[in-house]
Amino acid sequence: MKEYDVIVIGSGSGMNIVEETLVHGMSVALVDKGPLGGTCANLGCIPSKMLIFAADRIAEIQEAKKLGIEAEIKNVDFDFIMERMRKVVREGQQHMRHGLSHVKELDFFEGEGHFVEDYTVEVNGQIIKGDKIFIASGSRPLIPPIKGLEGVDYLTNETVLQLRERPESLIIIGGGYIAVEYGHFFAAVGTRVTMLEMADRLVLAEEPEISELLKKELGRRMDVYTDVRAEEVRGNERDVIVIVNDLKAGRKKEFTAQRILVAVGRRSNADLLEVEKTGIEVDKRGFIRVNEYLETTKKNIFAVGDVNGQQMFTHVANVEASLAADNAIHGSKVKMDYNATPHAVYSHPQIASVGLTEEAAKRAHKVLVGKAKYSDTAQGEAMIEENGFAKAVVEVDTGNILGFHIIGPYAPILIQEVIDAMASGNGVDQIQAGMHIHPSISELIPAVLSNLENPQAK
Ligand SMILES: Cc1cc2nc3c(=O)[nH]c(=O)nc-3n(C[C@H](O)[C@H](O)[C@H](O)COP(=O)(O)OP(=O)(O)OC[C@H]3O[C@@H](n4cnc5c(N)ncnc54)[C@H](O)[C@@H]3O)c2cc1C
Repeated sequence: MKEYDVIVIGSGSGMNIVEETLVHGMSVALVDKGPLGGTCANLGCIPSKMLIFAADRIAEIQEAKKLGIEAEIKNVDFDFIMERMRKVVREGQQHMRHGLSHVKELDFFEGEGHFVEDYTVEVNGQIIKGDKIFIASGSRPLIPPIKGLEGVDYLTNETVLQLRERPESLIIIGGGYIAVEYGHFFAAVGTRVTMLEMADRLVLAEEPEISELLKKELGRRMDVYTDVRAEEVRGNERDVIVIVNDLKAGRKKEFTAQRILVAVGRRSNADLLEVEKTGIEVDKRGFIRVNEYLETTKKNIFAVGDVNGQQMFTHVANVEASLAADNAIHGSKVKMDYNATPHAVYSHPQIASVGLTEEAAKRAHKVLVGKAKYSDTAQGEAMIEENGFAKAVVEVDTGNILGFHIIGPYAPILIQEVIDAMASGNGVDQIQAGMHIHPSISELIPAVLSNLENPQAK
């Protein structure tokens, strides 16, 4: 058995911990079953956004007509788009492997690890023990128990990246951010897409009016159904048939496509690690329980990123990883603050959001709500952006921004000044104090904040 100061399980956000603990002269073991670099780099953010960047260009060309530009797309080279993505992922992995091989102080165990007893992990038949352990082992696609699903060759966010040929038609089961991002991509490259969501709206984490606009916009390019629960899947040589229960109409319906993509959510990888063998508790969905310092229920074992199920985004995982490493190395007790946690949805239109929705904010605060459309700004008008809008939720007493939500072009970029204002403890005043370039769509942010009113007064 080999003993280490630190064991890190997971090479995504876990690499932040590897770096910090090595810098502090600790002996470190990294355990990862691959793909090296974790979900974001190999199966999530990076490959999906590489594909979506191409999809955005296609959508822009298709929509240019509204500006008086008639353009025609002669060909979309699906294989080129997919191969460019795979090349970038491969090179990223090679780069990381090369980097790891040069760090003499680090022992890298490439394989699936699991706990065998307290603070003790078995990987590739070897037993290693750590004084401090960081679990950053992420999540994987949740496969719902739909009758017949296991009998067909369904796609997930992992296998979809290996496609060599564009499917003629695709049913996406799910309506969360992964579903609507891939829906946008496949519709853009010419696949006939059908999206089946069980809830009454898409992207449940967003404001209802954002879900509504997204459904309307996506509905122009694909068939979007909400309130339908996939109950059975049947396959034949050519097609896959999904039988749903239309929850509103109370009757069954059938949809047929060449392929299906299952994107109904994520599950924690804590089970693969058998965390119970070292006395770590998980919640009822299987995510590792952590306190605000990211400590698990076992002393000196921390859990960061998707595996703890708090907010499953890369930027959150990385901040959690650094905070947990600092707390462990320095014996400090710094709390993780999720108040200004942002996220983006790279569908078409794009969505970006930070903090609380109006409904969530109202449960604990007296709020003012403001809205403005892109078209309320000069640049928004130049873009003929008629439907995109932003919404602010502000605390009455303090003027602090509690939540901010945007749907429309460049939303993930636009929202950054709001994130900065929220993170630095300031709110409306800080944003209003800075001049905004005229004309630019950044004027949307102060426009929203100048429209604040009591939502009850409406
Ligand atoms: C399609 C898709 C798109 C996404 N897009 C975005 C985006 O645009 N922006 C964003 O912020 N987030 C996005 N995410 C989410 C983001 O990818 C995750 O939140 C992030 O990667 C989580 O990082 P992590 O460090 O917790 O886990 P990971 O990066 O998944 O790392 C975990 C590692 O641990 C390994 N592992 C697991 N179990 C074991 C074991 N028992 N033994 C050894 N190794 C093990 C895994 O193989 C993996 O390499 C996306 C996710 C998906 C699926």
